[in-house]
This record gives sequence, structure tokens and C-alpha cells, in this order.
Amino acid sequence: MADSLWGTVVSVQANYYWVRLEPMVKTAVASPLNHEPLISASLRSGEQPSHLLCTRRARLKKTGQQVMVGDRVEVQEPDWQGQRGAIAAVAPRITALDRPPVANASQILLVFALAEPSLEPFQLSWFLVKAESTGMQICLALNKRDLVDAAAQAAWHQRLQRWGYDPLWLSVRNQSVPAALHQKLSTHITIVSGPSGVGKSSLINHLIPDLDLRVATVSGKLGRGRHTTRHVELFAFPQGGFLADTPGFNQPDIDCAPEDLAAYFPEIRQRLAQRHCQFNNCLHQEEPGCVVRGDWERYGHYLQLLNAIAIQGYSQTQPHELETTMKYKVAGSGQLQAEPKLSAKKYRRVSRRSQNKALQDLCQELVDSADDLEALEGLSLDELL
Ligand code: GDP
Ligand code: ZN
Repeated sequence: MADSLWGTVVSVQANYYWVRLEPMVKTAVASPLNHEPLISASLRSGEQPSHLLCTRRARLKKTGQQVMVGDRVEVQEPDWQGQRGAIAAVAPRITALDRPPVANASQILLVFALAEPSLEPFQLSWFLVKAESTGMQICLALNKRDLVDAAAQAAWHQRLQRWGYDPLWLSVRNQSVPAALHQKLSTHITIVSGPSGVGKSSLINHLIPDLDLRVATVSGKLGRGRHTTRHVELFAFPQGGFLADTPGFNQPDIDCAPEDLAAYFPEIRQRLAQRHCQFNNCLHQEEPGCVVRGDWERYGHYLQLLNAIAIQGYSQTQPHELETTMKYKVAGSGQLQAEPKLSAKKYRRVSRRSQNKALQDLCQELVDSADDLEALEGLSLDELL
């Protein structure tokens, strides 16, 4: 059997893909879940680099096979000296997120702070529900424990246990990050999410202190992209696993069907595992014989979110009947805020201003791609790497 070379796409720029390589295996069959620790170059042979800058094989282009960050890919014709290669195959994806565009992510690391900014229960619920709706494993981390006393932390601990979560407690400032977090991150592609100011960047820097392990090289050199939703990068952990740096996931909007919402609350899942509501399609509001409605803390959050989703959904199904509808977002205070929003675009007379804006956006995209390409081509390989 021929040696085959597999790796994980850690960043995409124009038509170039940075692939972080895995150990050579004697078979082409490898699990898509295998984001194992990446071996040092010496294990592959001598001085081979850990990353190759790859293009897509023509055959993949012809079949329309897209390559995303997070994809496990087979690399052929490695040019070790030139640090180049060609992607010949893409392993089946276990997950594919659209916004941000990441394949094979299987865990969400939800970071909140205990203080500064204060921990707002409804905002936390909102992020948790969004995370639950992806079907991925959730790892909840509460940072800045240095700012609260033991009693406050214990109170939050008990409260979140009732919600069905067992958070990890951190203080990045005091370098206090439990080993359990390192362990949870080691075998997944993990997406980091959470409001701004809670310490996400600080945590990423703590987890991946060695800048050499960051593969921000491409967008770093190009001087743009780090904070736009178009660019996603994976950071490799020394012990294995990747972290996706994805600004796009930080303002989660709710986009699930009302009947699905209940499944995103552990408390409701637990109730429904024991007993059934009288009606199959119970939305757990005023229906008779409902076993979910009751005196539990987040029932109010459930109703608020249900309301927001129902109104959003109505605007999507009945766009011609609704001139405007309400758009919900979580304010800095953690309160749900409603603001008017124009209904479905296709039924709206597009104003000249928004037409211009759309055109400008499109032009910017094109200019960006062209710049990316040009910059890539203009740089010598040494500069790129
Ligand atoms: P991000 O917006 O979520 O990426 O948050 P940052 O990492 O930029 O951190 C926001 C602020 O919180 C910065 O001033 C950090 O120094 C501070 N910070 C981060 N971690 C901690 C912590 O554990 N304790 C305290 N007191 N401050 C922290
Ligand atoms: Zn019910």
C-alpha cells in the first residue's frame, strides 16, 4: 500500500490552503475524527516541514469539491523543499458549519466572565441555546474567577448545575486554567464563542503561547483578515486538537424552529425523558397537560426565546403580509431588545442606497480576493512561511 500523506486545512486564502500534516500512514483510510497530536517534523523524516501550502487538484475543482478550514485532506506530490503540495482528496465531513465556515468542528468552547462584564443569565442562556442548536459538545468556561469571592462562585456553580451544565472555572490573569480544559480541547476542532471582553483572546494566547504554532502567517502577512468573518483560522494545540478563531460566531442569532427550541434546554430534555406532554406538538406554553411548564429558573428564558423565534419565523413565512417585523438581539446588559427590521429582502423594494451598498460589498470581496492572490504571488515563499 502506498504511503499517503494527510493533514488538516488550517487556513484558506484565495485558492491556497495551508495544510498541517499528520504522521504518514500506510493506508489511505483514516478517520475524519482523527485530529490527533501532530507529530514533529522529525517523525516524518528529517527536516520535513509541518505545513504545506497547497492548491486543489484539478479533479477536485471539476467535481466542485470545496475545501474548507477543518477539512481532512490527502496531500500529494509534496515538494518539501518548496513547502508546497496539492490536495487530492477530502475526507467526509462529520460537521460543516456555514457561519463561520468550518468543517469537522465537534465542540464549542463557550467563554463567559464572572464579572467585568457581569454574568447576565439571559445572555448566557442565549449563547447556550445557540451552541446547543449546533449539536456539538459544549464546554462552558467561566473566566475572571479572581474577581469574585468563593461564595459568589459557589452560587453560580449550583445555579448552573440546575441548568444542566458543569462549568470549568478559570482565571487567565492568574494563569489558573484547569488541566481538564486542556484535555477537553485535545481531541476536537473547537469553536470559541462568547461575548466580547470576557477573555477569549487572553485564553487563546494562554493555551497557545508558542506563536510558531499559530498559523496566522498568511493573513498576518497580508495584514488583513484576522477580524473579518470571511477568514477562519485553526490554531493547533501542542497536545493535539485545534481551536477555531471565528469572530463570526460571536453575535449568535436565533434561527431554529419553535418546536426545536425545547431540545436545547437540558432541563426540558430531562423532564421530557421522564414524562410526556399531553400533546405531541406541545410548545410548552399554555397547553393543558404540559409537563415542562413550571416553576424552574429558565422557563422564563425559554418563553422569551420562543417568542423571539416565533416572530422571526412568521416574518419569513409571511413576508408579503408584514411590512416590518421585530428583530431581537441581546443588549450589552443581557436584556433582550427588540428593534424593527425590514422583512424578507426579496419582497422589499430595494433602495438605491442598499443596491449601492451591496455592489460595494461585492466589489470589496473581489478586491480582497484579488489582493490576496496578488499579495500571495508577490511574496516569496520565505516571506509566506
Ligand atoms: P475578549 O474580548 O473576549 O477576547 O477578551 P480579552 O482577552 O481581550 O480580555 C478583555 C479584558 O479582560 C482584558 O483587559 C484582559 O486583560 C482581561 N482579562 C482576561 N482574563 C482575565 C482574568 O482572568 N481576570 C481578570 N481580572 N481580567 C482578565
Ligand atoms: Zn409541554
